[in-house]
Amino acid sequence: MALINCKECGKQISDKAASCPHCGAPVNAAPAPQQAVDYQQQAKAQQKSQQKSMVKTMLFSTLISTAISFITRLFYRRI
Ligand SMILES: [Zn+2]
Repeated sequence: MALINCKECGKQISDKAASCPHCGAPVNAAPAPQQAVDYQQQAKAQQKSQQKSMVKTMLFSTLISTAISFITRLFYRRI
């Protein structure tokens, strides 16, 4: 815990305090609205899930094409 000077009245207050006990001014800069933060987190999560599904699709198509070429080679070798 550290003491900082209040921006409004200049008195020493705890940096853990939400607001100055002398004048009531908020100590820390107002945090971003919770909804906006949630929205950003949701957007990031959506991006991540989209990237994951894209990677899955790419891996799947790669696997399929590899399997097809492998089977085709086997098939032509037997003939
Ligand atoms: Zn103050």
